Amino acid sequence: EAMMARSLPKQVSIPGVNHIILVSSGKGGVGKSTVSANLAVALGIELGERKVGLLDADVFGPSIPTMMNLEGSPDIVEGNKMVPLVNYGLKVMSMGFLVPGSGPVVWRGLMVMQAIQDLTKNVKWGPLDILVVDTPPGTGDTHLSLAQTLPLSGALVVTTSQKVALNAARKGAQMLEKVKVPIIGVVNNMSTFICSKCDTPSNIFGTNEGAQMLAKDFGVKVLSNIPLDPRIGELSDTGQPVVLAHPESKQVKSRSITFGAS
Ligand code: ADP
Repeated sequence: EAMMARSLPKQVSIPGVNHIILVSSGKGGVGKSTVSANLAVALGIELGERKVGLLDADVFGPSIPTMMNLEGSPDIVEGNKMVPLVNYGLKVMSMGFLVPGSGPVVWRGLMVMQAIQDLTKNVKWGPLDILVVDTPPGTGDTHLSLAQTLPLSGALVVTTSQKVALNAARKGAQMLEKVKVPIIGVVNNMSTFICSKCDTPSNIFGTNEGAQMLAKDFGVKVLSNIPLDPRIGELSDTGQPVVLAHPESKQVKSRSITFGAS
């Protein structure tokens, strides 16, 4: 750890970016990327066109290109900076835009750290109010690299009500505290199952108490209990974050068509 701290640059903000927030989870598959994409789109609706960015920092399993319906490779502008791709009014960057084909990425920790540096510092992100960063599951080189090199405004912890997810989320939150990243709150995903035929809710993963306890232990709140709804997954798979279905997002939808993926 001491060696790594010496070899990494000091915390320097990304030019023109006001806030950087991480979306983290202890375990994979709890809906972290889904929450990241929807949070970014919702913030974009609030703050305006191109005021919010979404960085997919999961270099091993990028899912943001699919969820944001984006493909292609970024243009390079002066200063050798990459230009984020745009959809739904968000500036988006992902390892998925840089590694062609579907082969696995096999990298050592240092290469991951280099990639994270590239995706943060070598991208023309600014001006942005908020950059939402979808991190890989667990705690590892990506989190360490982000926390040590960027001033982070905070992190959201995404979990489900299952014991294994909660235990892993707790470890993740402890790690974030250790590297002095403020925890903003807990998102309890798949809290109830909503039957798509009859709209009846049932608690298949247990009660919401576990997430509440977790939040309480870190002095924060459960910011949202999101139901498990097959429509959320289906929309995600077709590149349409579910918040776009919200009435307030109509404006953004039509604007994003005007702007396209320029
Ligand atoms: P993670 O980033 O934690 O690995 P994802 O966001 O990729 O998780 O979600 C895993 C799968 O579960 C995806 O197929 C996604 O569409 C689906 N999913 C996530 N949240 C929900 C939800 N609330 N209801 C239904 N499906 C969901």
